[in-house]
Amino acid sequence: MELWFTEKQTPGLGITCKVLQTLHREVTPYQEIAVLDTEQFGRMLVLDGMVQLTISDEFVYHEMLAQVPLHIHPHPRHVLIIGGGDGGTAREVLRHPQVEKVTLVEIDRRVVEVSRHFIPEVASSFDDARMNVEFVDGVAYVLNKCGEYDVILIDAPEPIGQAERLFSMQFYKGIASALREDGIFAAQTESPFVNQELIKRVHSDISGIFPITRLYLAPVPTYPSGTWSFTIGSKQYDPLLSLRNGGLDGVLRYYNADVHRAAFQLPNFVRELLSKEVLL
Ligand code: SAM
Repeated sequence: MELWFTEKQTPGLGITCKVLQTLHREVTPYQEIAVLDTEQFGRMLVLDGMVQLTISDEFVYHEMLAQVPLHIHPHPRHVLIIGGGDGGTAREVLRHPQVEKVTLVEIDRRVVEVSRHFIPEVASSFDDARMNVEFVDGVAYVLNKCGEYDVILIDAPEPIGQAERLFSMQFYKGIASALREDGIFAAQTESPFVNQELIKRVHSDISGIFPITRLYLAPVPTYPSGTWSFTIGSKQYDPLLSLRNGGLDGVLRYYNADVHRAAFQLPNFVRELLSKEVLL
């Protein structure tokens, strides 16, 4: 008998994968966690029925969320990650020797524990001496911080339930306060094909707080529509003008300086989602 998993990504769209084995399933106080071994994409982390990562394409998402801002900030020493309990974003941040401390704020301890057990190549960063993990709500954590971080990365799941506030104006204001005076942040901001209203609202909110706001794109085959957006808010450094050599040539699988520049070149339908003054 064949077993297939379907994530219903929208009321009319889904992704279906043949499952070789269900490696893990549990319900925590926060969500249902599952790890599946799929024929097409290998191991897959699923939260509340939604694909968070697969072993085959996670490198695109994690490199693009972390490497883009870390190559813009000239001296990223203290980095905060909100969400990201699978460890993939932290793995990318810790590739930079300049980074002295990474604080990862994840609401659900079990995501970290399950990831360490079933997807260790993604969760490879948790034993690094520079890592500090806090199991609390990311919004509450950020609202108590002032001028501490060079870079903040929002590795949030879909804006549903406890993650909804990770896409709110109040949260973005908190991030601006938590960053140093030349700080920069990047957030995953969903699909430009199926989350247009969210992208518009988030871009408008962030550009009301940060002097520089830029959206960039990358392909992530297992996310809805396969095209993913990320949004940067920066106090000082322009993503297209401030690009340093991170010394990671030959290490990364997706990111390089050409990809960095290309990712900010937006097709017309995405430009139209963003307000004119932001694009000038
Ligand atoms: N790459 C993923 C995606 O876009 O599908 C996100 C991955 S990561 C697993 C998201 C994590 O955010 C989850 O482990 C979840 O528990 C955590 N999370 C959700 N809401 C949170 C909150 N309010 N504070 C901190 N972490 C939160």
